[in-house]
Amino acid sequence: MLIDVTINTPRGLYKQTKASIVNVVSPDGQRGILPNHMPIVVSLTVSKMTMEEEKRESYAISGGVLYFHNNQCMILTPAIENESEIDLERAIKAKERAERRLAAVNDQNVDLARAQVALQRAINRINVKQKAG
Ligand code: ATP
Repeated sequence: MLIDVTINTPRGLYKQTKASIVNVVSPDGQRGILPNHMPIVVSLTVSKMTMEEEKRESYAISGGVLYFHNNQCMILTPAIENESEIDLERAIKAKERAERRLAAVNDQNVDLARAQVALQRAINRINVKQKAG
């Protein structure tokens, strides 16, 4: 028994796949979703997500929501990258940019909340790419 997983982003369908387990992180902690799990809606943090597909795959997911019902798992997220798709240099630059913005606490033009979330996204991508997340 496998779970049918569909992942959508604002760019459209990211992936449709089958998995024997979907591991996500919500504000309440880690959740492993197995076939025949009860129906749920889970909000997702900026975190690493893994799925047992043909092999274990790791993704950097930038938040979103997961809905599971009847062995169908639907994930809607602002952004997601497979470990293999992550551009490490780009993530490092994004992290440095966010850190510079956060350091400029007195600059009225800097949106600190936005910089904080951008920093989380960048750190998450770096961790997933470096298999530390
Ligand atoms: P950047 O400042 O580098 O654009 P960001 O955090 O603002 O980073 P997002 O708005 O989260 O970027 O994502 C925009 C698009 O770029 C998404 O499709 C996302 O999957 C992709 N993306 C962002 N950063 C990376 C990265 N380091 N490697 C691969 N794809 C990335």
